[in-house]
Amino acid sequence: MNEIKNAYDIRKFRDEAHKIVDLLADYLEKNINREEVKVIDYQEPEALYQKWLKDFNSQKSNDILDFYNRMLQDSMHIHHPQYMGHQVSPAVPASALAEFMTSVTNNSAAIYEMAPLSSVLERIIIEWLAGKIGFSSDAFGVLTSGGLIGNTTGLLAARQIMSGYNIWNNGHDLNTKPAIMVSGQAHYSMERTVKIMGWGQAGIIQIPVNKQNSMDVTKLESYYQKAIDSGQKVLAVVANICSTSTGTYDNINAIADFCEEKNLWLHADGAHGGPALFSDKYKHLIKGIERADSVVIDFHKMMFHPSLATAVIFKKGDHAYRTFAQKAEYLLSSPDEHDWHNTAKRSFECTKNAISVKIYVMLKSFDEKIFGEFVETTFDLAQEFNNIIKSTSDFETVVEPESNIVCFRYNPSRELTTDDLNQLNKDKRQALLEDGKFYIVQTEINAAVWLRVTLMNPFTTNDDLRKLLEEIRKI
Ligand SMILES: *Cc1c(COP(=O)(O)O)cnc(C)c1O
Repeated sequence: MNEIKNAYDIRKFRDEAHKIVDLLADYLEKNINREEVKVIDYQEPEALYQKWLKDFNSQKSNDILDFYNRMLQDSMHIHHPQYMGHQVSPAVPASALAEFMTSVTNNSAAIYEMAPLSSVLERIIIEWLAGKIGFSSDAFGVLTSGGLIGNTTGLLAARQIMSGYNIWNNGHDLNTKPAIMVSGQAHYSMERTVKIMGWGQAGIIQIPVNKQNSMDVTKLESYYQKAIDSGQKVLAVVANICSTSTGTYDNINAIADFCEEKNLWLHADGAHGGPALFSDKYKHLIKGIERADSVVIDFHKMMFHPSLATAVIFKKGDHAYRTFAQKAEYLLSSPDEHDWHNTAKRSFECTKNAISVKIYVMLKSFDEKIFGEFVETTFDLAQEFNNIIKSTSDFETVVEPESNIVCFRYNPSRELTTDDLNQLNKDKRQALLEDGKFYIVQTEINAAVWLRVTLMNPFTTNDDLRKLLEEIRKI
């Protein structure tokens, strides 16, 4: 019992918490102001493992602050303006503090009684976002831990509603071969979802992309016919808004027209690019989003919350309850009732973080135009980077950027073979990683290697981007 008493030593908690806030405040300041030189102090996985295994096997420490200091050193510094890698946002401190509050109070959000406040805030957030999308008051949905679960939730609903029988209770009729159609550039969570549902590789039909790397909608009809002719039952089409690799948007209206004609479910995967709806300048990219049956938006990408926070919104709120129609007597007394306050009925997860609180805190603390500003700052920056690249003779882009994702490569002499060019860019990326002053990633498009930045940090400037190109030349 002594050890448990130690664990709840409240004086120690107060003292440590104050120190941690000071540590983090210094950390944020140093990174945002570029006083910290490196974005990452890269160590090979095995070396880092050995280092920490040694630490693990050493004596217990009374000075946990020492651990937190070293934790920061061995982490990726996402708040540093020269972090330009994956689609992870520099978490807003206000939202992170809300997570600290919800961790300590630990109100899990499966049923209302266990999480009264976060259940109510969840409804408020869902209704607010549904309104922003342009849905009527009929819409409803659920908050989930990430876009993968969000996409799975949306597609499970599509399966239940479009398959024409109670697939959730009865299991698959093996004579029907259900499938969805997606862009060839769809996020891998789509394929994972289809395979979780047991449809196999044939269940995901990839429509080729056009030059801009978005779905070539003129091919929808022929791919649909081919699927029907081979005995498949297409249930849904997914609009990618936007694609993960190049950040380009599918034409929602064209896909929606097709779905209406064929009576198919339209799911809009706006995990990354959905928040364009907050920007007057960029909302044309998601025109037609209100025609989708289900929409997924990540708060932890372009709405700069700490991970994870995702909304799945159904145009017809009733659909939110059809996905997981299931009895759990000890939790849910009346499985058929639409008791919105028990989120477990609509949720893939059982125990779930009180996700709504941090979003509510953001909306109470700041004007909601902050989300539009974030989109415009980072999307504009991508346009400027594109212009910088065009003004050079040794760099090129793969497509015109539409969002804050830019794929480009170093091509110093136009005489290199594709293999040489791929190797050169891979080597440059690896050298940058090991150097640590910038963090960028790479992707493969049509078997060619491209360097990729996602400009997630609103403090990144043109100057940082010019320096990045200079560094790639010389490294
Ligand atoms: C990031 C992303 C996902 C997956 O979301 P997570 O929150 O990482 O689970 C799905 N679709 C698209 C288009 C994405 O960009």
